[in-house]
This record gives sequence, structure tokens and C-alpha cells, in this order.
Amino acid sequence: MASPYLVPVAQLLRDVPSTYEASFEAPFDEPHEFPARGPAETDVFPEATVKVRITLQSFSGGLRAKGLVEAPWHGMCRRCSNPVLGVSVVAVDERYVDARGPGDDDAYLVENDFADLAPLAHDAIFLDLPLAPLCREDCKGLCPFCGIDWNEASCDCQVPVDARWATLDVLRFADFESDESKEV
Ligand SMILES: [Zn+2]
Ligand SMILES: [Zn+2]
Repeated sequence: MASPYLVPVAQLLRDVPSTYEASFEAPFDEPHEFPARGPAETDVFPEATVKVRITLQSFSGGLRAKGLVEAPWHGMCRRCSNPVLGVSVVAVDERYVDARGPGDDDAYLVENDFADLAPLAHDAIFLDLPLAPLCREDCKGLCPFCGIDWNEASCDCQVPVDARWATLDVLRFADFESDESKEV
């Protein structure tokens, strides 16, 4: 079966200007074109359902592709390392051209009278993935000493005061005091 990402556009390109709304759901990466990223990196499962709603509008020599792409992602909380799930909803506004001329470096190509929306969807979603997601805004993270999850329990670890920082605190305090005395 043909990929739903492949939209026939011969008619659109003949009748300028005309529009077509591509609206479908499809696996993110059925051909498994993209290798899985590391476990610590935000990624999209190849079989994850992507929702695409893009209006194609023809102009002389090409098409404007404007709309929304939505995909669920999975990642790891940067503070507690627990799994995090989220959804990227990305607004897109791109161009497809018959042939790339000057200034068309960022345009996608119409090939064999089809506009392939897959690269557009992949690019939009990969760019939108959060690099360091949080499981929740106020995640307390893990204790650096015993590793306990501070969201679920507390511990009696004493956080040692680093000697260099202690010295810095004293210096800052002294500076502050001398500034104060100058002002008075
Ligand atoms: Zn967390
Ligand atoms: Zn601890």
C-alpha cells in the first residue's frame, strides 16, 4: 500500500492556484529509516501514530505546505531519570518545488508528481523534541549520595559543604559588608 505521506500533486500544479488538504494518521517511521537514539535521549517510536493536517496550495512551480504535525515522544526526566511521555504539536509552513532554483535550498522536492510529506513531518518533529524533559515541573530529582528518588521518599544524607564554596561565601559577605560601610 502506498504511504499516506505521498500526496499526488500533478493536478494541483496544473491548476494554479488550487488547494488540497492532506489529513491523515500514519506511523512515524514505518520503513525504520531512523535508528533508535540512546535510552537517555528523547525519541519517537517508529510505529508511533503521527497526525498530519496540512494544506497544500499551488503556486507557479511549486506548493506551499502549511498546517500541523503531531507526534507522541518518549524520553527521560533530566532530574530523576524516570520515563517521560509527551506530545509534540508543530506548526509547519514549508515549500515544495519542481526544481530547486536560487533561494530554494530549504524547499522540499516534488518527485514524480508526488509531494512526500514524510521528510517534512520528520524534520518538524525532530526539531521540536525536548532535549532535557522533566517528568513534572517540580521534580525533586535524586539524592546525589544515596540515589533515593526525592519525589517518593526523603533521606538523611548530609550534604557536605565544599570548603571552596564556604570560603567564597565568607568573601562575598565581607564584600557586602565593606560596600555597606562605604555607603554609610
Ligand atoms: Zn523527574
Ligand atoms: Zn540521600
